[in-house]
Amino acid sequence: MRELLAVEPSPGADLRVCLTYPNEYRGMASNLGFHIVHRILAGIPGVSVERSYVPTDAYKSLDPNRTLVSLETGSPLSEFDIVGFSLQFELDYPHMLEALVMGGIPLRREDRDENDPLVLVGGPCTVNPKPLEPYVDVFYVGEAEAGLEEGIEAILTARDRRDALEELADLPGFYVPEYPGTVDRVTVNNLGGTEPPKIAFAPEDTEHTGLRAYPVELGRGCPYRCAFCLGGFTAGHMRHRPVEQLLEVLEDVEKSPYDRAAMISPSPTLHPEFEEILEECLERHLEVSLPSTRINDLDPELLPELREAGVRTLTLAPESGSEDVLEFLNKPLHRDHLLELVEDAGRLGMRVKLYFIVGIPGFPPEEDTVASARLARECAELADVRVSVNPLIPKACTPLQYSEMLSAREINRRYRLFEREFRGRVSFEDPELARAQCLLSRGDVDVSRILEEVLWNARSPGAWARAMRSHGVSISPDRPPDGPEDVPYDFVRAGPDHEELYRLFTSLQCAPMK
Ligand code: SF4
Repeated sequence: MRELLAVEPSPGADLRVCLTYPNEYRGMASNLGFHIVHRILAGIPGVSVERSYVPTDAYKSLDPNRTLVSLETGSPLSEFDIVGFSLQFELDYPHMLEALVMGGIPLRREDRDENDPLVLVGGPCTVNPKPLEPYVDVFYVGEAEAGLEEGIEAILTARDRRDALEELADLPGFYVPEYPGTVDRVTVNNLGGTEPPKIAFAPEDTEHTGLRAYPVELGRGCPYRCAFCLGGFTAGHMRHRPVEQLLEVLEDVEKSPYDRAAMISPSPTLHPEFEEILEECLERHLEVSLPSTRINDLDPELLPELREAGVRTLTLAPESGSEDVLEFLNKPLHRDHLLELVEDAGRLGMRVKLYFIVGIPGFPPEEDTVASARLARECAELADVRVSVNPLIPKACTPLQYSEMLSAREINRRYRLFEREFRGRVSFEDPELARAQCLLSRGDVDVSRILEEVLWNARSPGAWARAMRSHGVSISPDRPPDGPEDVPYDFVRAGPDHEELYRLFTSLQCAPMK
């Protein structure tokens, strides 16, 4: 595929880094964090950056004889000094291991020596490094601008591999399993003090790749704390990007092959200059797309402007139709407000995508599922609605890390109930893959046995269930941590401490008893 590169590798550099996305090209190109890291690393004197990704056809059957090479120079991953991964989703863990095997790098860190690359991992999943500890030399926990450059400079000046690891273990945001200690997630206080986040590369032909949108970051962090949301508890306080920086990024969008600006933020409409940004996009003939927008923060009067700016799908996450479930999830919903938004969106010719969560432990199916299906049906009478239903996945560093997850059989039962009550177009997340996410998110180091079995065997959804049955692990979807002292990743401080999360969890527990 032909690409436009804003950042080229520098031949003869002291340190060669291969940034690897553990999923398809599409994910790599649309992940703004990947572009930010690429630009930061390429800006360090003496560092040359290349990229690779794990192609989809490698997922089904891992061929150790196949070689994963960088896109820029076709070099095998094993030839680099650092191989860095950006981990966005738990289900990418096996793909990261595939990349190591296909890249010719010893899978386990204990088998690597001076001639092997340092394997460095960043991204939101690093709040629990335990399941990946046997494979990763260095975890970076936090936002790239906050301290990644310092770490790379420490590697540049280190005498050898051991010296580099020792140095990194003392730096803020870095966790080195060989020298374990506590680590605080690092963030930047003022986004205006960082570089405006522009992409580092783009496919030349956006038409055929289906990639149409340039990711434009409006802000980071979320002011709310929905009990199930990893980002709400770990992404730091809400920060908006100054409008001057956004204008600079929009100029870059105009020069790029993209004709659409995807607004990236946990709640884009909370940006104080959101309407001004929409107008700027209109003036520049750029269409806009929005991620899921918090219902209570979206004024129906804004919908005509969004429609005019090219937003064709309104994505909303009511999560549940039950007041008690919403209270348990700590996510209030103004039901009439939702119905007004859906009706107005329908009138404006917009499609509406709705997300619901089912399988809340302690709630009977009638309350957990039927109430949501009925709300979805009410919405479907007002607009062209697509519904997506996901089970509750207890995640690390949220109050629900202490909650059990329902069995796949029970989740499936609730899906059928939803289908019967809703009687419309609906998609369901695979229950086994959802349970695998829970396992990887809050598991201990023993989860790596399951991960390796899934890596080497056919990776159908059934493979996770089979591997979970054959390897007993200390923390699993059915067996949450008993309390703060039982949390395997308590050395990572990414938000409220685990005592506070436990206190929140036990207060939420009151909800189903009402
Ligand atoms: S679900 Fe949305 S509103 Fe709630 S904490 Fe997460 S990002 Fe914020």
